[in-house]
Amino acid sequence: MVASLGGIDAPHRPVLLRETIEFLAPERGGLFVDCTVGLGGHSEAILESSNDTRVVGIDRDTAALRAASERLSKFGSRFRAAHADYKNLERVLTDIGESSPAGVLADLGVSSLQFDSPARGFSFRFDAPLDMRMDPDSGEPTAADLLLELPEEELARIIFEYGEERNSRRIAKWIVEHREHGEPITTTTQLADLVARAAGKKKRWQIHPATRTFQALRIAVNHELEGLARFVETAVDLLQPDGRFAVISFHSLEDRIMKQELRRLSGYCQCQSRRDVCTCGARRAVELLTRRPVTPDQDEIDTNPRSRSAKLRACRKLISVGS
Ligand code: SAH
Repeated sequence: MVASLGGIDAPHRPVLLRETIEFLAPERGGLFVDCTVGLGGHSEAILESSNDTRVVGIDRDTAALRAASERLSKFGSRFRAAHADYKNLERVLTDIGESSPAGVLADLGVSSLQFDSPARGFSFRFDAPLDMRMDPDSGEPTAADLLLELPEEELARIIFEYGEERNSRRIAKWIVEHREHGEPITTTTQLADLVARAAGKKKRWQIHPATRTFQALRIAVNHELEGLARFVETAVDLLQPDGRFAVISFHSLEDRIMKQELRRLSGYCQCQSRRDVCTCGARRAVELLTRRPVTPDQDEIDTNPRSRSAKLRACRKLISVGS
């Protein structure tokens, strides 16, 4: 699909589409929640699978919601858009008088619309203010604000933990030196140049040296990892019996949370405590449909390089849920 918005043409190919639809099994009909509707690729496939299927599409980006609503208008009232954080899934459904979805999907991360919009500040391919908020109307701090306000140690931690960047300390130190000299880093190009300098002249770069730092800041700005485990549990609890939950993650920190939470909800006790009593809250609420995550095949990676780090996990809610 090509969405023309804000002067850009942003094709966004839904990742692992066929596999995701197989797990969600929307041909059964009923309510499906697309927690990250983006440009509506997955939602469209869900709606096409049966006339008895309805979709509530959540996104915290109003530009994405506009594009998805336009694309999915052909389905009339079978598609509804909700501007929200999917971590408030329960409230979103209550507010519109819905409950017990037959399927919930979360395709985490950024859309091409966000990544390819010069003004949004997600990419060092364009010179722009360092914004990176998925919801620019949120009033929350931008990436530039974080670089201006956070202590050096905190910046280093974010860049190391969320970006797995070896030069995190040096990058954080230089960012802070810049602001102390009255020259704060406020644009994508300034940050990309600083990170490239910190990386030094190396052999050939496999990826641009700023990739990891940009990813780390994006995760911090959008609180991407906070409340993820809780979200999975909420989604599973809301599902109707035999309902399906599918999640696509794009980096190892996200996938680890998904893996652990889905295992716990399938009854696998992960207590490290070696006590007699389980304290991790393992319960048998779902059957895992993926022992290992499903990843894109080479064809998909070739046609859609952004799919390369995608990992899909899915589960089915048990008809009779234990506690
Ligand atoms: N599956 C979509 C693409 C999704 S891209 C398609 O086929 O077109 C991921 C989307 O999730 C982005 O639009 C982003 O704004 C949204 N998003 C990320 N985190 C979110 C959150 N916590 N709450 C709501 N939407 C979120």
